[in-house]
Amino acid sequence: MALQRTFSILKPDVTRRNLTGAVNAKIEAAGLRIVAQKRVHMSLAEAETFYGVHRARPFFGELTQMMSAAPVVVQVLEGDNAIARYRDVMGATNPANAVPGTIRKEFALSMGENSVHGSDAPETAAVEIAQFFAGNEIVG
Ligand code: ATP
Ligand code: MG
Repeated sequence: MALQRTFSILKPDVTRRNLTGAVNAKIEAAGLRIVAQKRVHMSLAEAETFYGVHRARPFFGELTQMMSAAPVVVQVLEGDNAIARYRDVMGATNPANAVPGTIRKEFALSMGENSVHGSDAPETAAVEIAQFFAGNEIVG
């Protein structure tokens, strides 16, 4: 598998509890390289753009409020098969169903406050990376 990039967010429940380093340690231990990273406080409009695919879902308001209520850390991760690899390290959306050792099993508080986001396909990864990073901010 060729080198691939994925987009990651360490959500407000991670920054609030000072777990940025602990989550990054799991990311790096999984063989993913953090090739871009910054802390941002999203506006509600930015969160609504980011999660636009979920606009019709009942949790959209709660999700976008939560994502814009406090700082997050946005990242680009690089590695072999990075998109699937990161989804494996993240664990299931609902932490109750996440496999032991995954980020969500270890750190997530609930289905909503589930610690991390990771892109689900190459097309979404490209769009999500471009929302937050200029090309020269990504250093592989
Ligand atoms: P993400 O897109 O954040 O990486 P995911 O792909 O595992 O997570 P999605 O189905 O895309 O899950 O949902 C996006 C996010 O919306 C979830 O990570 C979670 O924070 C929130 N969410 C999903 N389902 C619910 C729900 N039933 N109640 C509250 N929040 C939810
Ligand atoms: Mg998703």
